[in-house]
Amino acid sequence: MSDKRNRFETLAVHGGEPRPGADGSVVFPIYQGTVFEADPAGAGGDVPYIRLGTNPSQRHLQRRLAALEGAEAAVATGSGMAAITTALHSALGAGDHLIAAGAFYGGTGQFLAEHAERLGWAYDLVDPGDEDAWRRALRPDTKAFLTETITNPTIRVGDLVGAARFARAHGLTSIIDNTFATPVVFRPHTVGFDLVCHSATKALNGHSDIAAGVVTGSGELIGRVASVLRAYGCTLDPHAAFLLSRGLKTLALRVRQQNANALAVAEFLAGHDRIAHVRYPGLTGHPDHRRAAEWFDGFGSVLSFQPVGGAEAAESLVKSLRLAYAASSLGGVESLVTRPAADGHDASAPVATPGLSDDLVRFSAGIEATEDLIADFAQALAD
Ligand SMILES: *Cc1c(COP(=O)(O)O)cnc(C)c1O
Repeated sequence: MSDKRNRFETLAVHGGEPRPGADGSVVFPIYQGTVFEADPAGAGGDVPYIRLGTNPSQRHLQRRLAALEGAEAAVATGSGMAAITTALHSALGAGDHLIAAGAFYGGTGQFLAEHAERLGWAYDLVDPGDEDAWRRALRPDTKAFLTETITNPTIRVGDLVGAARFARAHGLTSIIDNTFATPVVFRPHTVGFDLVCHSATKALNGHSDIAAGVVTGSGELIGRVASVLRAYGCTLDPHAAFLLSRGLKTLALRVRQQNANALAVAEFLAGHDRIAHVRYPGLTGHPDHRRAAEWFDGFGSVLSFQPVGGAEAAESLVKSLRLAYAASSLGGVESLVTRPAADGHDASAPVATPGLSDDLVRFSAGIEATEDLIADFAQALAD
């Protein structure tokens, strides 16, 4: 286990970095230019132009992201939603059917509800842990299978290994949103997923200061994703690419501290008499604990819970915490706390999320000292 972790930490620092660096620089420079006379990477005959993602800073980031997910290729996008929507567009055409297995991030659910029909895509929403349901949903025109490593905000872990196998057996392109896990916790290509998407706005960048996304996969599949991305023009800006590449250097350290904090907070809350229910796959009582323990290295930075006393108690707890910001994102160095049902962002999905009650609180652990986070919860619950 520690051997595996060490290798990832090293990869986070060195993966995809040219040696020696330009002019001997340890840090890859920012190429802000929109256009170049020749292909500076000497690859593939692609025109070096900013919207095509072929500016040297964009190429550099894409090599680093591919290395971290253990993929042949990566394409960086202007946001996590651009990653998910371009991955879906690369796999689905008019008349095709999608099996969507998950509770789904609000933006993804909203995209399917508002745009799939107009694009001529049919889809069925199914339980990510129920292979019989996937089989019942399968149609002759099914082309893709979409799932999430850890569902939001219900914090379930579906049958990920089974999903990749199912998709492969039926000739479907398997797509997974790995935002909640990060490649520190789980690397979906190792179990056979075709396309891995991230909102790099979250833990990959980790500093809550850019919007970005990524899709990784084989050279052939990423070529198709890149072709959609270039046409729609949702490429990542080179300055954001530089910041994301810098954020990735500390990914392993940050995520391991976040995982440790999330586990400690989950255990503290599970033992507190003013908390009714905690959802975190690191707790042995979680319904998916065995899957997570077998497949994951750490259990992620996000947990959700329900205090005794319903929505009012939930609201008062969110207000009483002094360290965590009451904000709806996740994966940053600062802890964040939110009530998804009351928060327009997550509640925006017209698809009702099973298990999303108005007393549910979601906590995204930052990298603060564990003792300080626990002390903060203790004071907030004592009020
Ligand atoms: C935030 C998020 C997205 C969307 O990412 P943006 O960068 O906001 O576009 C997609 N999936 C998950 C799981 C997310 O948390």
